[in-house]
Amino acid sequence: MARWIELGEGVFARRYEHLDQTLGLVVGAERCLVVDTGGDEVQGAEFAAIREISTLPWLVVLTHAHFDHHFGTKPFLPCPVWAHERCEAAMGADRDEWVETFHREHKHVLAERLVEAELVPPTHTLTAEVTLDLGGRIVTLLHPGPGHTDHDVAVDVPSAGVLFAGDLVEQGAPPEVGHPTDWPRAVDRLLARGPGTIVPGHGEPVDAAFVRRQLVRRS
Ligand SMILES: [Zn+2]
Repeated sequence: MARWIELGEGVFARRYEHLDQTLGLVVGAERCLVVDTGGDEVQGAEFAAIREISTLPWLVVLTHAHFDHHFGTKPFLPCPVWAHERCEAAMGADRDEWVETFHREHKHVLAERLVEAELVPPTHTLTAEVTLDLGGRIVTLLHPGPGHTDHDVAVDVPSAGVLFAGDLVEQGAPPEVGHPTDWPRAVDRLLARGPGTIVPGHGEPVDAAFVRRQLVRRS
């Protein structure tokens, strides 16, 4: 069902068949950072399988407010939850639509789980960029401007050459671009940081050349 991919020392992606989703984990010497928590509390609790990898205290960062990225936060509490300052206002807006979609697709269990999931607002917000020290490991949470949403946050792990891009990048499908005129600049800003591996919100990890091709196709 779900599997880990090790992208570098202490940097992992967890892949799910459902929605072809990709969640992330960065382990420092003192803390670990959880990148998105999944679409409901059952998935969140499954993702807490992070405990197989690290028993350090965790903090969560939400890449954006779409349901599949944050409704799994509850099982991680209590912990700090980071997001862009505009994230909270957008959280929950797509819940009803997705409950309907799941019912229509006869995925009634998923619909029920989404209905029951608790909306957990961020405890810490950023405007443009914030650097966190996980203990011997620096990570940067950054908002590259509007792209997939108006509040996307990417996570740069320079020591591993890995960047978690949220839904600004997708691998298995064309990216869903909420702000088409701004999206290329946002993606450019991510590439400018020189990541070797870019982890999309959906699909397999890719390299910068893949993302450049995606940019060209859309412009
Ligand atoms: Zn999204």
